[in-house]
Amino acid sequence: MIPRQIFTSEHESFRDTVRRFIEEQVTPFHAEWETAGQVPRSLWKKAGELGLLCVNVPEEYGGLGANFLYSAILIEEMARAGATGPTFYLHSDIVAPYLVEFGTEEQKRKWLPKMATGEVVVALGMSEPSGGSDVQSIRTQAIRDGDEYVINGQKVFITNGHSADLLLLACKTDPRQKAKGVSLILVETDRPGFTRGRKLEKIGCKAQDTSELFFSDLRVPVSNLLGTEGGGFGILMTQLAQERLIQAIRAVSAAEAALEWTRAYAADRKMFGQTLADFQNTRFTLANLHAQVLAQRVFVDRCMDLHAAGKLDPVDAASCKLVTTDLQFKVMDECLQFFGGWGYMWEYPIARAFADARMCRIGGGTAEVMKQIIANSLLPRPPKN
Ligand SMILES: Cc1cc2nc3c(=O)[nH]c(=O)nc-3n(C[C@H](O)[C@H](O)[C@H](O)COP(=O)(O)OP(=O)(O)OC[C@H]3O[C@@H](n4cnc5c(N)ncnc54)[C@H](O)[C@@H]3O)c2cc1C
Repeated sequence: MIPRQIFTSEHESFRDTVRRFIEEQVTPFHAEWETAGQVPRSLWKKAGELGLLCVNVPEEYGGLGANFLYSAILIEEMARAGATGPTFYLHSDIVAPYLVEFGTEEQKRKWLPKMATGEVVVALGMSEPSGGSDVQSIRTQAIRDGDEYVINGQKVFITNGHSADLLLLACKTDPRQKAKGVSLILVETDRPGFTRGRKLEKIGCKAQDTSELFFSDLRVPVSNLLGTEGGGFGILMTQLAQERLIQAIRAVSAAEAALEWTRAYAADRKMFGQTLADFQNTRFTLANLHAQVLAQRVFVDRCMDLHAAGKLDPVDAASCKLVTTDLQFKVMDECLQFFGGWGYMWEYPIARAFADARMCRIGGGTAEVMKQIIANSLLPRPPKN
């Protein structure tokens, strides 16, 4: 195997802590959380106590001030364990960076320390029933009324939607405009006018609370605006490289784990006087998948290295997300086949990993949106009049 070069011994001791946490606090309870459709708040608090939340957030706001590679370790280990329930990455590595980069001093001091302890859980509300890919066309409105915004509208598919105390909500502050009308607003979920809808029933990632959210004449002070009015779309664009890289890290780590489960199963499963691993079909299929995952591991590590140095190009991040999530699904499908009927049983990790993987070509920007981004950089079109 090509040795990984991006992690130091300090990173690896952090990885030991993460693995222990997952073995003791996550894996034994994950099936229970799937039935409940969400993870308990106590888990967030335990993760906070161990310093696993918001590790990149500067120390003055309650984080560890660590670089992205520490976050990557938690993301990798959760993916390897098939622990799709606790969405720490969304909280710590997708929402927190917006606050760090664009929050006012007051917003940062109010929210980040509580996010780091797990006292406050956050969600990102962009997608709506009318569309998720086309963020410029969102319909939820936040219309200014004196010193307040009045919010009306609806969001859907929102991860942590049931448990969130705070939403980072994409709204139209100027409904006549497309991108320039989008603003990001922090919305506390205990405000009158906010209601949570159904916890949506999904085919995978079942321990995640993915919800509908409704806003009816909900008022927030204008001081809840993140960044500038009309600047929301631009702000969202600044974090895309990290968001796509996170999905790529999850994909390649999950694929590596699935290959290992399958290798072990094939070596053990007996049939026709030999093991499943003795068939040439098994050997060649696993060899082929191994070679492809290895190539992507090197690609993802290189992207992580560049990102930690602040140099990852968003188009390269889109390429990385596109190919890794495609391969993840292929690995889960072909590996599941080796488990025969057991592969179709929810109690087997490969069944869950197969269902979980399907979402990765949709969430965090669909595969088609990634292709658009890559194509636009290869073959730029003149701007439309
Ligand atoms: C489990 C889960 C968790 C999620 N969590 C969140 C969350 O926390 N917050 C949040 O805001 N959203 C979340 N989403 C929503 C997710 O981001 C959207 O589902 C995704 O962006 C696609 O939007 P859509 O479902 O409305 O599909 P649409 O945008 O309607 O797309 C439909 C189809 O059209 C294709 N398409 C779109 N644009 C193009 C194009 N330019 N060229 C060609 N084809 C195109 C798409 O690829 C797709 O195949 C989550 C989704 C899931 C499944």
